[in-house]
This record gives sequence, structure tokens and C-alpha cells, in this order.
Amino acid sequence: MRILVVEDEPRLAVQLDVALRAAGYAVDLAADGRNALHAGEVEPYDAVVLDLGLPVIDGLTVLQRWRAAGRTMPVLILTARDAWHEKVAGIDAGADDYLTKPFHMEELLARVRALIRRAAGQADTRLACGPVVLDTRASRVTVDGRVLTLTGHEFRVLDYLMHRPGEIVSRSELVEHIYAQDYDRDSNTIEVFVGRLRKKLPPGMIETVRGLGYRLACPPQT
Ligand code: CA
Repeated sequence: MRILVVEDEPRLAVQLDVALRAAGYAVDLAADGRNALHAGEVEPYDAVVLDLGLPVIDGLTVLQRWRAAGRTMPVLILTARDAWHEKVAGIDAGADDYLTKPFHMEELLARVRALIRRAAGQADTRLACGPVVLDTRASRVTVDGRVLTLTGHEFRVLDYLMHRPGEIVSRSELVEHIYAQDYDRDSNTIEVFVGRLRKKLPPGMIETVRGLGYRLACPPQT
């Protein structure tokens, strides 16, 4: 999953970047409203963390313009303390959730997970596919209860697929959702990640749909 963090306070931006990457996300950063607006218009983010008090273009305007342009990604706004009117304006502008500064990073991570789950139509924090269970809270994958060791990229590929069981996901879609913007992207490496995942997962779980992409096939639980 790929997340855009829009925050102009450098210290908080770094804290968010570190925490979200540690939780397994690819993270893009924007420090002003203009860069944020552009990134959110052209990149397919799985969620956005948007500070409302921003230089150049304020966060509320950025959000309104995304929504007016038909951008539907989940957005969590960060509001100043005691600014209840900001929350109302933000939700009316299309925010899906809000957090008041200062906040606990654990709460932000939980809210981001919930937004991504809801957007994918998943209610449970544990995604199961046959004997494979992905615990979104711990960013951990088990097979029959045994913990699987995955690289960050392998985890992101599996995480993306497990939020969409049975759906065909193209290689280019995977590329857009597992790499941050500044990363040297190569869609051929997706095949490498999928190949490695297949060796770690039960056979047949990641199907290749010729010419289209990949599909997660979940065997019925016995
Ligand atoms: Ca700010």
C-alpha cells in the first residue's frame, strides 16, 4: 500500500514517514499544498494523511479540489487542537477521518489501517486466505500459524493482493501501489517478488492471469 503524507512540519513529517514505512507502507511526502495537490491528482494512493495548515495552498482547498476532480482515495486530516470547526469543514470537504494534533502514532496507524480496509471492503484487521493470515496490525504474515519472513516489497505485494482476493491485479497496478514516487521502478521486478512469494506461500495461491496480471486464489478452509 502506498500513502501520501502531506505535512509541512519537518519533524512530524519525518516521524510519520518512519512510522508508516516501519508498518510496511510505501510513503511519499509533500510539504506544501501545491505539491500535495499534484501528487494526489496523478498518483493512485491507498490513503492520504493531510495536514490542514499548509503553505502555498491550504489543506482544505487541496482536499476540495481532489474531490471535485473525482479523486476518491481515503483521506485522514490532521487538525490543530481546539479547532473543532476545522474538523467539520474537513469532513464536509470529503475527509474520511480526522486526528487532532498532537496524536499518538499508534492511533494514526490504526486509523490509516481502518481507512484502507474500508476502501477495500474488508472489515477484519486479519486478512485470511486459506492457511495464510495477514495481520494488518502487526504487519505480519503466518501460514498455518507459522510466521513468514518477507522483505518489505514482498509484504507490500501480498498485502495489496490480500486486500483484493479474487480480483485481477495488473503488474502496473502493483508497481504503483508498492513503490514510493522517488523509487527506481521496474515492473519486471514485480515478477521477481511474486516468484519469491510463491516459494514461500502454499502452491497455487498467486495465479497468473495471462496478459492481465495476478489473482489471489484462496482455497476453502478445511
Ligand atoms: Ca501545518
